[in-house]
Amino acid sequence: MTPSLAEFIWAVGLVAWIIIRVPRQIRARKTRVASSAKTVGDRLALVAAAAGLSLVPIIFVATGFPAFADYTFQPWLGWLGLLIELAFLWLFYASHRQLGKNWSVTLEIRKEHRLVTDGLYRYVRHPMYLSFWLWAVAQLCLLPNGIAGSAGLVGVAILYFSRVRHEEAMMRDAFGASYDEYARHTGRIIPKPW
Ligand code: SAH
Repeated sequence: MTPSLAEFIWAVGLVAWIIIRVPRQIRARKTRVASSAKTVGDRLALVAAAAGLSLVPIIFVATGFPAFADYTFQPWLGWLGLLIELAFLWLFYASHRQLGKNWSVTLEIRKEHRLVTDGLYRYVRHPMYLSFWLWAVAQLCLLPNGIAGSAGLVGVAILYFSRVRHEEAMMRDAFGASYDEYARHTGRIIPKPW
């Protein structure tokens, strides 16, 4: 693995992300919203995640900026990054498919919203956010630059920690005891073996 191949893999991951996400975002506009818990803070957290996972690394891959934060590329880290990138894309795709029309980019309950508790959602409540964490770790492995490599982790941490409690509160409001029961048997991003 060379640094340019690692950058290429990172870029292919971003394109695959767009191919999976954009058609669903267009379709989601047609599904009616029953209630919304979106806030300015949540919007800003989404912007932080987008900056860390795309804007900052795109600038690095396209221009080499900020070169002062470069470090020596390790080929084995590149291969590990490829494996994690593949796991990220599979989880991202599968969680979108399994949420179906219940998915929103922000915090919303749809008309006819169904609580999904099967597939990946049988094990963890946030497989899509888990896929974001994996994406950020893959970026860290693939881009040998202290700022561009770790920007994804910062963005995902901002989104995850600012959103997850609000999302669960919204789901509890909408689904009451069924959500509590569901939450008892699942972990947030790590399955509960008991
Ligand atoms: N946190 C989930 C979903 C992210 S998308 C994950 O990481 O996989 C965010 C939207 O998905 C929320 O606005 C909510 O409406 C919806 N959602 C989250 N969990 C859900 C579930 N178990 N069933 C149905 N919809 C869910």
